Amino acid sequence: MTRIAIIGAGMAGLTAARHLLDAGAEVTVFDKSRGVGGRLATRRSDVGAFDHGAPLVQGDGAGFAEAMDGLASAERHGDGWRGLPGMSGLLKPWLAGAIHVPGCRIVRIEKRVLVDETDARHGPFDAVIVAVPAPQALDLTGQDALAQVVMDPVWTVLAAWDGAGAEDPDPVAPLDKILLQRGPGFRWIAHARAEWSRANLERTKADIAAELLTSLVRALGQVEAPIHLDAHRWRYARVARPLGAPFLDCGDGVLAGGDWALGPDAGHAFASGRAMAREIASRTLSAADQVG
Ligand SMILES: Cc1cc2nc3c(=O)[nH]c(=O)nc-3n(C[C@H](O)[C@H](O)[C@H](O)COP(=O)(O)OP(=O)(O)OC[C@H]3O[C@@H](n4cnc5c(N)ncnc54)[C@H](O)[C@@H]3O)c2cc1C
Repeated sequence: MTRIAIIGAGMAGLTAARHLLDAGAEVTVFDKSRGVGGRLATRRSDVGAFDHGAPLVQGDGAGFAEAMDGLASAERHGDGWRGLPGMSGLLKPWLAGAIHVPGCRIVRIEKRVLVDETDARHGPFDAVIVAVPAPQALDLTGQDALAQVVMDPVWTVLAAWDGAGAEDPDPVAPLDKILLQRGPGFRWIAHARAEWSRANLERTKADIAAELLTSLVRALGQVEAPIHLDAHRWRYARVARPLGAPFLDCGDGVLAGGDWALGPDAGHAFASGRAMAREIASRTLSAADQVG
């Protein structure tokens, strides 16, 4: 059986995994995180969950709407879809049948063998898909073309209050977006502007949480202290300048892709993942098993 390794359990990696599993390959998915979803993320807390990454997934590329509508873990919301019960649950069904290796950071690829940070070796595989943000893919593959991709950072503040604030708050600088978490309670997620996030990238979480809270409090008109406050740094949040091709062929059976190949939305990651699966299937699987 053809053995494929996928590094990264986000939209791109799991799209590729699902297509290759359906085509009959043995698929092993490695991710440095314990969960799945990548930037489709949900953080649990004493006051409830926060979808602190993408609030929904959007895309108008071929097959994306059908794929989302086919997921029992997806619900339509406005011009996109969100995960059930949270964003990190959206893509879990696509892992069915794969070998999942969570909490495993890959640091090197040597002739289709993956080496993790404990120096353990995995493989060799027939092909490898690198589905991680472009700067991390550059570290793993050494492909100079990845250096031209630009990904903007985003600092995110997560806060909760006992009582409601303004219903439809306007963001106060440096905030760009303020979102009320669905479900009971008053949990808010606010994303800072990219340029502010870049200028403040290396500050501590506590410091950022305190500073962004002042803008959030003004926007919401809150007078009480929050019952929960946290911050999250997305070092590579949104693609500002994509590669302009669905994936990069790194040679020796290694392909690299992700949203950064095509654009800023999860639908771009889907298109990249599907293109990589098709390419690998055409090289390694029998004609009968080609990815549709
Ligand atoms: C704040 C924010 C708001 C957003 N808003 C929207 C929106 O409104 N609409 C929309 O469509 N999109 C939105 N997005 C973008 C969307 O989340 C991404 O386009 C999409 O999730 C990218 O998927 P991906 O698979 O390419 O990468 P990722 O989701 O980043 O997945 C990469 C995975 O690789 C893993 N990884 C990295 N390095 C290694 C390693 N060395 N070894 C093992 N594992 C590794 C990571 O842990 C991660 O799970 C938003 C993103 C953010 C952060």
